[in-house]
Amino acid sequence: MAINERKVAIVGCGFVGSASAFALMESGLFSEMVLIDVNRDKAEGEALDISHGLPFAKPMQIYAGDYSDAGDAAVVIVTAGAGQKPGETRLDLVKKNIGIFRAIIPEIAKYNTEGILLIVANPVDILTYVAAKLSGFPENRVFGSGTVLDTARFKYLLGERLKVDSRSIHAFIIGEHGDSEIAVWSSANVSGIPIHDICEMRGFYEHEKAMKDIADDVKNSAYRIIEKKGATYYGIAESVRRICEAIIRDEKSILPVSSIQHGEFGVEDIALSMPAVVGRSGVQGTVPIRLSEEETKALLASAETLKVVLDDAF
Ligand code: NAD
Repeated sequence: MAINERKVAIVGCGFVGSASAFALMESGLFSEMVLIDVNRDKAEGEALDISHGLPFAKPMQIYAGDYSDAGDAAVVIVTAGAGQKPGETRLDLVKKNIGIFRAIIPEIAKYNTEGILLIVANPVDILTYVAAKLSGFPENRVFGSGTVLDTARFKYLLGERLKVDSRSIHAFIIGEHGDSEIAVWSSANVSGIPIHDICEMRGFYEHEKAMKDIADDVKNSAYRIIEKKGATYYGIAESVRRICEAIIRDEKSILPVSSIQHGEFGVEDIALSMPAVVGRSGVQGTVPIRLSEEETKALLASAETLKVVLDDAF
């Protein structure tokens, strides 16, 4: 089936799927959006509710459907799966959500052979790998939201601390979207000014402590939010919108999405996040940012953590 460049499908209409649908409706990027959920009423309810915002946005068709309706979607976003409960890590979800993916991914691939699969459900790195294998899609067309959200949290926290616009901060979280993720301090900068220099310009000198506190804060953001309100969804919804924008507008933006690595920094046959060029054909290659020795070691440890979980579960 020929792809409709203006169509998106969302599989899973819980907190994350519906917030992403809302963000995409507001964005005006697509003119058709199909919502798919095992709970059909939920998908229909969300489609109606979000459609009622259309007179304030841009015209589009939003409806509940099934996998055959996703056959011509340019992007299929998968958010279906159990979420973390308070105290649960993302890796704890692995068996449950691989089971759900064994049901969903072949259904998507039965009807859609040319679209991009954007994986959001957790553990996102493991599920990205699983989706690539189960779909048989070329690897550039299967990737996960990865640490796009963690990187946004990182920039937000740095922006708040330094009192600068978070969009002027260039810094990445890489590796697992989870406990073993790495804050890449060695290349972090604000409009070209190395991070430690701008910290000192703003009156902050205890770099070691600040780096640890901020990286921990990023890592623990989801746990804190889940403890207070049961789920996280607005930050990830904006991340999904941003990734779709890079794809549909063929922006070739550099985003830390999760994709299967082949030897970069010695990471082999595992999906994790590295800054990558994202455009209409999906992931068009990773960007070899400079890492310190310590960051490289941490990246390899992150990959090993994921490998152990993957080998055990898939
Ligand atoms: P949720 O429970 O609110 O929603 C999950 C939805 O999936 C439900 O509507 C459910 O009916 C549907 N579903 C379950 N099995 C299905 C199937 N076989 N086919 C179709 N639909 C099915 O959960 P949520 O809070 O929306 O979280 C969804 C996922 O997103 C979780 O795995 C969560 O950990 C993850 N998440 C990822 C990020 C990220 O940065 N990648 C951020 C937040 C949440």
